[in-house]
Amino acid sequence: MTDRNQELFDRAKQFIPGGVNSPVRAFRAVGGTPRFVQRAQGAYFWDANGQRYIDYIGSWGPMILGHGHPAVLEAVQQAARDGFSFGAPTEREVELAEEIIRLVPSIEMVRLVSSGTEAGMSAIRLARGATGRKKIIKFEGCYHGHADALLVKAGSGLATFGNPTSAGVPPEVVQHTLVLEYNNLQQLEAAFAEHGADIACLMIEPIAGNMNFVRASVPFIRRCRELCSQHGALLAFDEVMTGFRVALGGAQSLYAQAIPGFEPDITVLGKVIGGGMPLAAFGAKRAVMEQLAPLGAVYQAGTLSGNPVATACGLATLREIQKPGFFEALSQRTQSLIQGLTQAAQEAGVALCGDSQGGMFGFFLMEELPQNYASVMRTDAQRFNRFFHGMLARGIYFAPALYEAGFVSAAHSEDDIAATVAAAREVLAELRRT
Ligand code: PMP
Repeated sequence: MTDRNQELFDRAKQFIPGGVNSPVRAFRAVGGTPRFVQRAQGAYFWDANGQRYIDYIGSWGPMILGHGHPAVLEAVQQAARDGFSFGAPTEREVELAEEIIRLVPSIEMVRLVSSGTEAGMSAIRLARGATGRKKIIKFEGCYHGHADALLVKAGSGLATFGNPTSAGVPPEVVQHTLVLEYNNLQQLEAAFAEHGADIACLMIEPIAGNMNFVRASVPFIRRCRELCSQHGALLAFDEVMTGFRVALGGAQSLYAQAIPGFEPDITVLGKVIGGGMPLAAFGAKRAVMEQLAPLGAVYQAGTLSGNPVATACGLATLREIQKPGFFEALSQRTQSLIQGLTQAAQEAGVALCGDSQGGMFGFFLMEELPQNYASVMRTDAQRFNRFFHGMLARGIYFAPALYEAGFVSAAHSEDDIAATVAAAREVLAELRRT
């Protein structure tokens, strides 16, 4: 049988760098042929060979309702009939802003953009404009999109300014970006002690989904909040992945349960708020947001920002996830996946641990949950790749890299979870033997 995925990949590679429009899709980490998706429905997608997969990436987070949810489809079709894009304001943008603000109390005003990268980049500019400061803090293993100033890794030694992680980013562009270890209180203290008066913002993924799944500890977030407040820096929560995904109010609502009165100053959103369409946002208190053009001096704009079809998709998605019991059911389903995988691994005698919150999960082929990027990277990549391919061959599509989180949607049934765990049992037994 001809492999249509391979044919398409060969064709794609002639005209698209690496054959893909975003690097992780190329299967470079795990090897093999990327699956070209033909169509998707509910918890499944079908590749170019007509093979079905249970989808645990869901477009890397947005598809919280599963693919082709009828209410979302209807809203998108209706919106498309009314026009794709106007470059003038619409009522739906106001509705979406109101909805976001109602669900995320730390946000008083919001600006819509088209990607998480744009939202993160704009949030940094806003923080610098609002504080009149240059320096920013980010954490190793957190990804906030590919804006130049954020493509940076830790230099050698503690609390150093970083080095670019991409060619094309001059060192001068990242000279104000301080890169610290995630969950490391000592480095955090040292950074503020030395640079506190110059720090515009600290940006963090509160549950980091770009190093698989690592939670920021409650004491760590508490100290981030205290130090930002003491030094006049803005605390920016990048909830592109966690927003409307780990809980209706995002990760910040979970930290607020543990830290009374807790709020970040700036929130960056994406993925679920667009329901699979290009839509992202950043929001903050009124006084900060009023620094943005056309009111203030911080420039930011977008031809397709607040796109009418994307906002219709996002609104319909947000309405569904607010229905009573939605997050309870989603969390329970996601937990049963992680429990199933853990148990299967125990039975097979293979080290595996996992964690989840709402509809987001991660698992590691190791004994204990890692707390930072360096320990995530101690995972045996070869073993992970064999697990990934074993699952893929059985019609289960996990993220094709060990440093990515996974996602369960409301369309995943108990049967889908059971089928996944049954496949894992076979694959883990193979891992054990070899
Ligand atoms: N922030 C986080 C936490 C993300 O996970 C991502 C994308 N995975 C981004 C920002 C960038 O979003 P986008 O890919 O839409 O530019």
